[in-house]
Amino acid sequence: MINAKLAAKSHPQHQSIVKLNSQVAFGGKELVIIGGPCTVENRQQMETVAAHLSTTSVQALRGGAYKPRTSPYAFQGMGETGLEILAAVSKKYHLPVVTEVMAISQIHAIASHADMLQVGSRNMQNFDLLKELGQAGKPILLKRGLAATIEEFVMAAEYIMSHGNLDVVLCERGIRSFDNYTRNVLDLAAVAALKQITHLPVIVDPSHAVGRRELVAPMAKAAVACGADGLIIECHPEPDKSVSDAAQALSLQEMLELVNSLKPIATAVGRSISELAVA
Ligand code: PEP
Ligand code: MN
Repeated sequence: MINAKLAAKSHPQHQSIVKLNSQVAFGGKELVIIGGPCTVENRQQMETVAAHLSTTSVQALRGGAYKPRTSPYAFQGMGETGLEILAAVSKKYHLPVVTEVMAISQIHAIASHADMLQVGSRNMQNFDLLKELGQAGKPILLKRGLAATIEEFVMAAEYIMSHGNLDVVLCERGIRSFDNYTRNVLDLAAVAALKQITHLPVIVDPSHAVGRRELVAPMAKAAVACGADGLIIECHPEPDKSVSDAAQALSLQEMLELVNSLKPIATAVGRSISELAVA
């Protein structure tokens, strides 16, 4: 029995709606698809991505300005310059932005440039950060820890909620296992379980789950079929040149084809996918 007070579902129909902005919300009939590169690399890259995605059913833009890299020698992100690029393209193409926060010291700057703050897997149990995000004034995308149990994941959401922020969206992004053919193992049973345990919207990140672009589309489809409320998917104008996570990045054309292929699956499970994000 999970000891969550605020995140727990109180009756079978209990479902929270978490607004990303005045037009886009998680947890309703319509699925929310977030797309963009792993890392913000430069203005031109983000312009190209946003210009393309804004003509598709993708409703929000992703891109890291502060990157949690395994090696301290790897590119760590553009920092505030990256946030400024995100804010500028967001405004120009009418796409709300989701970006990662790694430290309490970054919350203010990120909250003033982005629509939603992402807590990455490596920080899912950074309890001081979670508590502070209770006061961030922006919705939080909480990713499951690399080896977190479902209970630990729900209780991490409870930290944010109990400190004042009820706008939390959970993201299943795969967990560590013994097989390194895929980067992680996408735990779709967790998606179904979380939908039963909590009233929070649950989305899936097939990109970090599989780590290989050829497996992203099938897992995205499975995620929609099993009840996910949305997807966050990495794509890049020149995938092989991505500064980080090149192997899992889709091209912009592949992203468009994937989103279109999800529509019949969404319909089959009583959901929908937005028509164009911009009129
Ligand atoms: C990311 O979304 O770029 C990321 C680093 O994800 P995760 O925290 O799931 O590894
Ligand atoms: Mn990535």
